Amino acid sequence: MSVTSLRSKVRDVADFPKKGILFKDITPVLRDPAAFREVIALLAKAVKKSKADLVAGIESRGFLFGAPVATKLGIGFVPIRKKGKLPWRTKRVRCTLEYGQDVLEIHADAVKRGQKVAIVDDLLATGGTAQAAAKLVRLIGGKVVLQAFVIELGFLNGRKKLAKCDMSSVLKF
Ligand code: AMP
Repeated sequence: MSVTSLRSKVRDVADFPKKGILFKDITPVLRDPAAFREVIALLAKAVKKSKADLVAGIESRGFLFGAPVATKLGIGFVPIRKKGKLPWRTKRVRCTLEYGQDVLEIHADAVKRGQKVAIVDDLLATGGTAQAAAKLVRLIGGKVVLQAFVIELGFLNGRKKLAKCDMSSVLKF
């Protein structure tokens, strides 16, 4: 499937979840098997190139893409979750995103010291979420080798916040 057809599968929803936000809805990509497969293949290609030992996905849409990429490459998956959801000992970081604030957590033993981690999420907006996720991985001893996204909102310059590691996106808006 071409990148143009993939682009056409992303639905714009105005004023969700707040007035003034143009939400990029990826559910039409998920329900189209060819589109979903293609997105996973493109993300997996970037993650493979990064030589990551693990994929870390950011709750919740990052799970939908990160977990299939990890299984496709035969590497492990680590969830980065919203506050209070992970059962074991955690490290915690606050983050500001395009339309709100969040606290993200990771299990303290999820990554072994020096392991290479690729962070996957559905969308890069201001970069606050991705920056917090990278901080968490580094806090527990991991090395962030890639931040990969399905969608990058270029006009918000989130890329600048990820200067310390490689980044890739399947679709730019
Ligand atoms: P940010 O921290 O500003 O880069 O926001 C990224 C996070 O918020 C990602 O986990 C996205 O799922 C979500 N997000 C932010 N802005 C949008 C948007 N316009 N459409 C869809 N998701 C968004």
